[in-house]
Amino acid sequence: MLIIIGAGISGLTAANILNKKFVVLEKNNSCGGLSTQYRSEDFWFDYSGHYFHFKNKALIKTYLEKYATFRSYNRKSKTYIFNKYIPFPIQLHLSHLPKNLARRILNEFPETPRTDCPNLEAYLKANFGEQLFCTFFQPFLDKYYQANLKEIMATMDKGSIPVPDKKSVIQGFKGKYFDNQGYNPVFWYPRIPLRLFIENMTTPIKSHIKLNEEVLKIDWKQKMVFTQTASYPYEYIINTMPLNQLLTRMEPGLDLPDPANLKHVSTLFSNVVLKRQRKRFHWTYIPEKKIPFYRVGFYPSRNPPICYLEKSITNTSNITHSRKLVQEISFTLKQLQIIREPDDILYIDHRMIPVSYIVFNLQWVDIIPPTLKKLKKLGIYSIGRYGTWNYTSMSDDVQMAINTTNMINEK
Ligand SMILES: Cc1cc2nc3c(=O)[nH]c(=O)nc-3n(C[C@H](O)[C@H](O)[C@H](O)COP(=O)(O)OP(=O)(O)OC[C@H]3O[C@@H](n4cnc5c(N)ncnc54)[C@H](O)[C@@H]3O)c2cc1C
Repeated sequence: MLIIIGAGISGLTAANILNKKFVVLEKNNSCGGLSTQYRSEDFWFDYSGHYFHFKNKALIKTYLEKYATFRSYNRKSKTYIFNKYIPFPIQLHLSHLPKNLARRILNEFPETPRTDCPNLEAYLKANFGEQLFCTFFQPFLDKYYQANLKEIMATMDKGSIPVPDKKSVIQGFKGKYFDNQGYNPVFWYPRIPLRLFIENMTTPIKSHIKLNEEVLKIDWKQKMVFTQTASYPYEYIINTMPLNQLLTRMEPGLDLPDPANLKHVSTLFSNVVLKRQRKRFHWTYIPEKKIPFYRVGFYPSRNPPICYLEKSITNTSNITHSRKLVQEISFTLKQLQIIREPDDILYIDHRMIPVSYIVFNLQWVDIIPPTLKKLKKLGIYSIGRYGTWNYTSMSDDVQMAINTTNMINEK
């Protein structure tokens, strides 16, 4: 018997291609994890922006087209800074900044990229200069990661922070507009609602899924999984629950680094239904300190329009009181000229994602790969963004689930 823990996009992918006897244990009362939608009053909301990235992943797109067709979107993203919108990424659009500041940033911009840096702060300063670090990266990342950037690996997120060549930076300084630059300039989204895409993935394996079954304990010596109501023997496990939670549920405890060293942030997001759409972009990064959210975005093709606002928190008991949160939302949307008055808001819903972004502290490299290797030796394949404690997209996770399941199928 094989046990899949979690019916998110990773667990569902694995379940659909397994050729062994299996059961999927899902703690929620529905499938999809973060890659689906939830209902609140009359509205269906995503778990903040969830767009598919198929760059260099044509096979994954073809695979997922079994469940839905996808529409592509040319990403329109911006940065909101100095009380105005400027095109993304800021480093290529210096002409939109105050002239003196732009000149200082340009003068500091290095001729060649550097990779040999001890931490993220050093990496950003070496590749973008001190001025741009202080103007954009530091205030934005402080809000986003809520961690000392000197304690984060230099290679973290490197793929998503484009380092342009200096020639392009000079062109941007002189006013050139760079359309669709940076990572994932095109994204895809199902033509049917996201929840129906997940429903289509769920249908072929429905009889194998047990909902409301939270895995509480894994006895790896006896090879038994325990939930509140039942116990299941296993030969292999495919796990998608966050790695820190998996480690605390292993009994007897493994001789592995303390799960408390696995750092992450939680995301508090608010979905806001609007009377009308006054601004047109997919998402905007907000370094401004006076605005508590680091990103605001719109879901594609919604009527009435729905935007989402995200903020990171490190202590979930420290959640802003809902009335204050509504005031923060009104303030932010007004600043960003998305609303003119609070009456432009039809409905608000807030949710929390307890483990959302992994913080790649300097210990990551010594903790995560050996931990995953040790689990594999015990027949536990931990996959997906949270199972591998990594920064991956849904497409990466589908790819990972296919690779792992194909390997298990051959055993
Ligand atoms: C704010 C935010 C924005 C994002 N935006 C994008 C984006 O635009 N594009 C993109 O590609 N990716 C995005 N991602 C990443 C994306 O959410 C993940 O890559 C993807 O959801 C991972 O899927 P998964 O199935 O591995 O995990 P999950 O979706 O987390 O599913 C895991 C499942 O396991 C279940 N589970 C957990 N613990 C237990 C337990 N003990 N017992 C039983 N079941 C359990 C959960 O209920 C859940 O259903 C974003 C993530 C966040 C947080």
